[in-house]
Amino acid sequence: MELSAKINKIIKFSNVDGPGNRMAIFFQGCNFNCEYCHNPETINECKNCNQCVEVCPTSALYIDESSVKWKENLCCECDKCIKICKFDASPKIKEYTINELIKEVTKVKPFIKGVTVSGGESTLQYRFITEFFKEIKRKWPNLTCFVDTNGSLNLKDEMYKEFVDITDFFMLDVKAWDEQEHIDLTAEKVENVIENLQFLKSIEKLFEVRTVVVNQKLNNRLTIKKVSEIISKTDIRYKIIRYRHFGVREKLQKNLFSPSDIELKELEDLAQSLEVKNTLII
Ligand code: SF4
Ligand code: SF4
Ligand code: SF4
Repeated sequence: MELSAKINKIIKFSNVDGPGNRMAIFFQGCNFNCEYCHNPETINECKNCNQCVEVCPTSALYIDESSVKWKENLCCECDKCIKICKFDASPKIKEYTINELIKEVTKVKPFIKGVTVSGGESTLQYRFITEFFKEIKRKWPNLTCFVDTNGSLNLKDEMYKEFVDITDFFMLDVKAWDEQEHIDLTAEKVENVIENLQFLKSIEKLFEVRTVVVNQKLNNRLTIKKVSEIISKTDIRYKIIRYRHFGVREKLQKNLFSPSDIELKELEDLAQSLEVKNTLII
């Protein structure tokens, strides 16, 4: 059977998803459920409850054989469907085969340095991505292939070898170092994330680590210190990200607090004191 993948969104030109101008592809589905997720509609598959069909102002959504379908040309991007969904899903998902996705890359190829797959959690669809990256490398060897990941799959495992080999670089989220804190935030354990941090560094495929700083919830200093000790003296970039309410589920916002500029600077100073050479606060 031909491989296909569910895609939430494609951004043709992005300069925040790895080096240079890149096509960013957001895969649908995630195995974490982070309280601060800015795109919670990427977490689950649509349950075809039909509620969003009723609120769509342009009839871009309709029911076909018990499943909800989306007519992109009628959509005004009001996101009423996303707001009403109780299942952290989106009806605006498109399914692509590898050839169909390659056609999308072809349209922008002269203007990009590479492709980044993100999510949701893109690595859950690693088989598709492996073949997609192989095809990119076959057609355009100068394009780089990056993966943005929450680090949940143990990439050291033999079953992911081909996927890791074909990927140029990974960008890894380390959301919390403490096990219980990570579970409270994401609903999953941190063990694989930490192993991936060490493994990807050891094979020189770690481009960037990201930590979102949330006050009154996370031990931000512990996470930054532990990550910094591992990526110390390398060229791996450490992005220290300010938590913001934007896009976060309203019912969860009340427990999440943004750090001040001073607090972020103190965390950056901590990373730099541990000889992290490349830090960035955003
Ligand atoms: S996207 Fe959400 S609201 Fe719409 S049909 Fe699917 S599950 Fe229901
Ligand atoms: S964003 Fe959703 S609700 Fe709004 S027009 Fe598009 S499909 Fe309809
Ligand atoms: S890993 Fe990313 S996409 Fe998944 S729930 Fe967390 S923030 Fe959202």
